[in-house]
Amino acid sequence: MLIGSHVSFNNKDQLLGSVKEALSYGSTTFMFYTGAPQNTTRSKIDNNITKEAIDLMNKNNIDYSKVIVHAPYIINLANNKEIDKYDFSIRFLKEEVKRCEELGIKYLVLHPGSHVGLGIDAGINNIINALNIVLNNTNITILLETMAGKGTEIGSNFNELKRIIDGINNKDNIGVCLDTCHLNDSGYDVTDFDKLLALFNQEIGLSKVKCIHINDSKNTISSHKDRHENIGFGTIGFDNLIKIIYHEKLKDIPKILETPYVLDKAPYKYEIDMIKNKKFDSNLKSKIVI
Ligand code: FE
Ligand code: FE
Ligand code: ZN
Repeated sequence: MLIGSHVSFNNKDQLLGSVKEALSYGSTTFMFYTGAPQNTTRSKIDNNITKEAIDLMNKNNIDYSKVIVHAPYIINLANNKEIDKYDFSIRFLKEEVKRCEELGIKYLVLHPGSHVGLGIDAGINNIINALNIVLNNTNITILLETMAGKGTEIGSNFNELKRIIDGINNKDNIGVCLDTCHLNDSGYDVTDFDKLLALFNQEIGLSKVKCIHINDSKNTISSHKDRHENIGFGTIGFDNLIKIIYHEKLKDIPKILETPYVLDKAPYKYEIDMIKNKKFDSNLKSKIVI
């Protein structure tokens, strides 16, 4: 089973630090941002560190071809009202794609963007235009994340994602990342995942799913909120998330936890333990704090 969490990537230890952090949680895969998700400060990739990190992954049977990078939140490809911001988003995503190439990463998760009043049609066209520029001449696959539908977010239903994918020139360079909290908050019933997958397959095709973010939700279905909760402590619940994690059709897809820290402590080692044991621990949060 491919289970892990998002981990940090700092200036000094870079990918090696990320791998060590992932291993400390008992992970078999992981996701990272190449710098702080909310800013654009990025360090130069040190190829020696990358090599060392890949050696460590090989020793621990981590399949690097499925390790995920998440693009920073500040990129918004949907809104071109302020043209300099739109151009900046395109340029920065292009640089991020280059960094992924340098690191030997294949999959880059991206929030499609918010149209900020322009309307869904214009927003989708802006995203398509930007992605065709960014994806020109690369072997990186960008994974559009299913969104909660907060504000004017695009991508909170399969049809919007399908419309984006339809506009992409190189279809091999585009895929989808399902986020269980976002699906719930946007109005999909994740407690019947067979039905959800059938719907996705009909609309987009299951082969496009390359990553799943596993999060519980603090809010009820259709809340459009996007507040992640620790596994088993939210409205989706432990058993439903276990069914998704162990789903036969999703066997080879990396599952990534993006659940909240508990009093500044990463919950991932504890959550991954629960997932491996398939047994919910209602005392989990107090154990993390100690
Ligand atoms: Fe995300
Ligand atoms: Fe996510
Ligand atoms: Zn979220």
